[in-house]
Amino acid sequence: MPTAELPLPHAAPATDVPAIDLHAVGVRYGPARSPVTAVQDVSLTVAEGEFVVLVGPSGCGKTTLLRVVAGFERATTGTALVRGTDPAPGRGTGLVFQQPRLFPWRTVGGNLSFALARHGLPRGLRASRTEELLDLVGLPGFEGRRTWELSGGQQQRVAIARALAGEPRLLLLDEPFAALDAITRERLQEELRTLADRTGTTVLFVTHSAEEAVLLGSRVLVMAADPGRVAAQVSICLERGEHTDVAALRGTAEFARLRAELTRALLTASGGGGGSEGEAVS
Ligand code: ADP
Ligand code: MG
Repeated sequence: MPTAELPLPHAAPATDVPAIDLHAVGVRYGPARSPVTAVQDVSLTVAEGEFVVLVGPSGCGKTTLLRVVAGFERATTGTALVRGTDPAPGRGTGLVFQQPRLFPWRTVGGNLSFALARHGLPRGLRASRTEELLDLVGLPGFEGRRTWELSGGQQQRVAIARALAGEPRLLLLDEPFAALDAITRERLQEELRTLADRTGTTVLFVTHSAEEAVLLGSRVLVMAADPGRVAAQVSICLERGEHTDVAALRGTAEFARLRAELTRALLTASGGGGGSEGEAVS
């Protein structure tokens, strides 16, 4: 993110209660006669301040798991807790999807004010907070712009700002950069990682890209399909330095090693064995 002072210095207090605690979670859709098992027996604990990535092929239940954590979907079996309580939409959780989903009839500032109002911020404070949020995502002075005037990357920045409007302690992102061009994606990856480091926000990030998973995550969970489940886990111990530089990181031998390891895990989880080191799996 830009170098301006961050208005979100809400490093999570040290606590033993995990940010996310899933125990043997299963989700089934459809009629009882012919249910679709979207995820089965997923157990996962994410500590406050962790940056965890879920990676896996299309249909392995990544979005379903995120929806359970967001409180949009109930686990059919098992238990899901967010900071020790039942997940519920809005309660300290910010969401970013692949498409920005902004209101086209509102300005950029209007979109953010609407979110701030929903989070109960008094009207008199909304303009200055909107300004802060736009600074934070690198769009200073964009309040009056129409959403259709913005590039895809700029719209996604607004979507991230909107997700931050409620000062969430947990950010859930579902393939947020998948539709962006490579350069914009790289910049936003860098900025998201810096933002998470500086604010102490817990992040659960979904992608189908092994490269993105290694760039961003401290820990990567590899999912497999039919039924959706966690098949492997890879710890990412990269020297990131204070300001994440994605291009430099990508050039390191350690990065290449981790990406190869993760790609192997993905191929195994997808039922493949050899083949080339494909970057995406869906
Ligand atoms: P991913 O995000 O990894 O692509 P999803 O969580 O979207 O996977 O889907 C996991 C599985 O659950 C898929 O087989 C999908 O078709 C199925 N599924 C997802 N949502 C629904 C739904 N609302 N009703 C029925 N089946 C669904
Ligand atoms: Mg999905």
